[in-house]
Amino acid sequence: MLGLNSGKIKELLIEIATLYQEKRDELSKYDLVIGDGDHGISMARAAKAAYGKVIGMDDNEPINEYFKVYGRTLISEIGGAMGPLFGSIFTELGKASKGKDSFTAEDFAEGIIGATKKVMALGGAKVGDKTMVDAMFPTAEALEKALEEGKNLEEITTIAQEVSWKGVKSTIPLKAKKGRSKFLQEKAIGYQDAGATSFYYLMKKFNEFVLKQDEV
Ligand code: ADP
Ligand code: MG
Repeated sequence: MLGLNSGKIKELLIEIATLYQEKRDELSKYDLVIGDGDHGISMARAAKAAYGKVIGMDDNEPINEYFKVYGRTLISEIGGAMGPLFGSIFTELGKASKGKDSFTAEDFAEGIIGATKKVMALGGAKVGDKTMVDAMFPTAEALEKALEEGKNLEEITTIAQEVSWKGVKSTIPLKAKKGRSKFLQEKAIGYQDAGATSFYYLMKKFNEFVLKQDEV
C-alpha cells in the first residue's frame, strides 16, 4: 500500500481515541506504582474529547488537519507535562503530512522521529529514565534506518510496533528518574512504564490499521 487517504486518517484517529478509552484502567495501573495512577484516566478523558472533535470534522479535510486537531485536543485536555508530550506525537505527524493527500511510510517515520526529538527537548528525559522516551527513541532510530531502506507503510509500522514493544519491556528493570523521589525510584523496578506503554499501543494501532486495509 502506498498510503492512507484523508478519510482513512479520520477513521484511524477515531480508532485510536476508542483504544485509549478501552485501555484506561490498564494504563492507570502501570502509573499507580510510581506515579499517581492517573495516566489512563487522563489519556481516556483526552481521547474522548479528541473523538468528539475529529468525528465533528468534515470527511475530506486535509490529512494534517486531523492530526493537528487531535494533537491540540490532547495538549489542552491531558494537561500537566504529559499533554504537550503525548500531544506532540500528533502535531508532528501533522507537520510531516502537511500538503499531502496520501499518508505514506515517509510521513509516518518523519512524524515519529520529529515527535521523539520534541518529547526529549520538552521533557528532558533520556533513554533509561523510565519514561515514554524508552519506547520512542529506539523506534525513531529504527524508522530512520527503515526509511533509508525504502520500507513501505506495512513494513515500517510493523517495525515500529516491534521496536516500541521492546522499548516498553526495557523499562521493567529500570528505576524511575524523572522528578521522582529516591523511594519511588526504587519502587518502580519490576513494572513497565505507563507512558511507554501508551506509545506502544499507538504504534500497534497504526500497524493493525494499515494491515487491515490490505485484507479488504
Ligand atoms: P503525570 O506524571 O503528570 O501524572 P501521566 O500519569 O499522564 O502524567 O503520565 C506519566 C508518564 O509520563 C510516565 O509513565 C512517563 O512515561 C511519562 N513522562 C513523565 N515525565 C516525562 C518526561 N520528562 N519525559 C518524557 N516522558 C515523561
Ligand atoms: Mg500520573
